[in-house]
Amino acid sequence: LMNMYQPLNILGWAYREIKQGAIDMERVFDTLSLRPEVADAPDAQPLRLTGGAVRLRDVTFTHDGRSRSVNGVELDVPAGGFVGICGPSGAGKSTVLRLLFRFYDPDSGRVEIDGQDIAHVTQESLREALGLVPQDVVLFNDTLRSNIVYGRPDASEDEIWQVLERAHLANFVRGLPDGLETRVGERGLKLSGGEKQRVGVARAILKNPAILVLDEATSALDSQTEKEVQAALAEAARGRTTIAVAHRLSTIAGADRIFVLDDGRVAESGTHDELLARDGLYAAMWRRQSEAGESSVVPFPVNAGD
Ligand code: ATP
Repeated sequence: LMNMYQPLNILGWAYREIKQGAIDMERVFDTLSLRPEVADAPDAQPLRLTGGAVRLRDVTFTHDGRSRSVNGVELDVPAGGFVGICGPSGAGKSTVLRLLFRFYDPDSGRVEIDGQDIAHVTQESLREALGLVPQDVVLFNDTLRSNIVYGRPDASEDEIWQVLERAHLANFVRGLPDGLETRVGERGLKLSGGEKQRVGVARAILKNPAILVLDEATSALDSQTEKEVQAALAEAARGRTTIAVAHRLSTIAGADRIFVLDDGRVAESGTHDELLARDGLYAAMWRRQSEAGESSVVPFPVNAGD
């Protein structure tokens, strides 16, 4: 009988996630088909957050039972630290993020937050601890205000404007004739890719999660927009654990540590300078992007001044 309710739980979960903007639509549909595999353990306890340290211990995961999308990955993010993840297409970056959000359980190894295996904590507490700025931020056909505050409808006007400033959206909103009451989405004002990402950042700042996950959009942004998005991300990253999956390496060049994935494995890791000195995969990717003018943006100092 319990199984009968499972789809309803899943829909309820998906609805909340969409409402929270925690994931994009594609992921919701992805997850709908996956969700039954992942349930709260009978003895699940709420996650006890002590700082938001994240650790993947020898994690292996196979999507199709054959090739390993993630293969023996060790990844360590100290509480309050900023870690970047990069690597070629298909390297396993999204799969690592999905394992952290527990869309899947690893075939072997474990994912820990503050020393607790996330397979043994309640999913509700896990989702509370994590915030995601997705590649494609979904906007509802509603006002800009509702789109920003729905995760925290009780936010005060002062708080909202502080968040808009930090997300580098305040000037944009002031320039709109109807300001925060402007209708956006399919049937309203269309926001550019950079503006949408900053709405995603504003939502994340309002949610105030212990751990922030950024899944950088692949779409090209002009360099001014890119600077604004990066500055907004740096603001959102301040004072919390941050994991950024980046396509533009300039986004993570200032990270405490960068993990370079290749074919499901951690091929190399270190700071930007260490990885350049190593002259491996990262250095080659950096050179390629520099030549293409993609990393002309000065890397921002993450968590500077904390
Ligand atoms: P990209 O930068 O292109 O987004 P990525 O580094 O995020 O790539 P993943 O999406 O994690 O890579 O994919 C890792 C591997 O797992 C790839 O070989 C991919 O084809 C495979 N894979 C990903 N999702 C699925 C799925 N739902 N079913 C089967 N295989 C999958």
